[in-house]
Amino acid sequence: MADAELPKRSPELRKDKINNKWVIFSPARSRRPSDLKAKSNANPNNQTSCPFCAGHEHECAPEIFRVPANSTNDWKIRVIQNLYPAVSRELGFENNRVSGQGDVAVSGFGFHDVVIESPVHHVNLSDLEPVQVGEVLLASKKRIEQLRDFDSIKYIQVFKNHGASAGASMSHSHSQIIALPIVPPTVSARLDSMTEYYKQTGKCSLCDIQPNELLIDESAHFISLVPFAATFAFEIWIIPREHSSHFHEIDREKAIDLGGLLKLMLLKMSLQLNNPPFNLLIHTSPFQDDPSYAPSTHWFIQIAPHLSGVGGFEIATGCYINPVFPEDAAKILRDVRISN
Ligand code: AMP
Ligand code: ZN
Ligand code: ZN
Repeated sequence: MADAELPKRSPELRKDKINNKWVIFSPARSRRPSDLKAKSNANPNNQTSCPFCAGHEHECAPEIFRVPANSTNDWKIRVIQNLYPAVSRELGFENNRVSGQGDVAVSGFGFHDVVIESPVHHVNLSDLEPVQVGEVLLASKKRIEQLRDFDSIKYIQVFKNHGASAGASMSHSHSQIIALPIVPPTVSARLDSMTEYYKQTGKCSLCDIQPNELLIDESAHFISLVPFAATFAFEIWIIPREHSSHFHEIDREKAIDLGGLLKLMLLKMSLQLNNPPFNLLIHTSPFQDDPSYAPSTHWFIQIAPHLSGVGGFEIATGCYINPVFPEDAAKILRDVRISN
């Protein structure tokens, strides 16, 4: 798409009402939005031997389950323990320890699992059929439902790192699940912000979104858009049309429908931005939710491409500078044609 078709814009500060953050939109930092691409392709694939490949199962930490459940060497998805977990399933959960200076610590109890999304090394999530992407989502749902049985687990983060600068150390397509005994502050801030919107308007902030020119595409049960105050250039959100606080409430039909839209968004992003490094994050609600959160909290998927690094200004202020206006990013992504 020609940038000449995009309107001329001046800098603007936008409030992200979901996360209660400010984003600075600065078109001068990228004069031609459609030229903004990843400098190097995210999967150079210099790994010689990979434990996530079929046939290397013995090199992995123990398996939790596989899909299909009764498969042998014809498995499609494996959910395994992380060999180097950030938190430990072996520890008991101890209450807060508070030292003299008011510092708080709890035991590092939790679960850190890996979802191997395909048995084949070179297959990306976006290469899978929609139904298979749906199966990957259903594997995360199943694992979340298992972890729900632990009373001390408060929050579960499902995330995917793709490309080294997005945090990936393995190039074989995978995602991760970390179950924590606390609710992380960014999550609490989002819940509080959504609840505040509900108090002020009587509406859920995501049910209330009117995407208009921010819309990229839609499916039977989901919409995909560039958020009004996107933190990252070409950031994408996929939101269930129907109000739902928890990702694990998704059923099979919706997961497969989501699989199709997610695949399409990943393909458009990859084609437009030259297979950029990215994070895919499932933002859900804590388990032992205060019931008053239910009408105001709504789960969604965030896809965050990494086209530039995080600098000192962002670390110091928590305000990100995004060179591409969401309306322009949405138009460019809408216009990317994926051939079947
Ligand atoms: P990432 O670093 O985002 O690419 O995620 C890959 C994850 O796989 C890391 O958290 C590693 O600790 C984990 N990992 C690496 N090798 C193995 C293995 N052989 N079995 C299980 N997990 C592994
Ligand atoms: Zn592999
Ligand atoms: Zn809602």
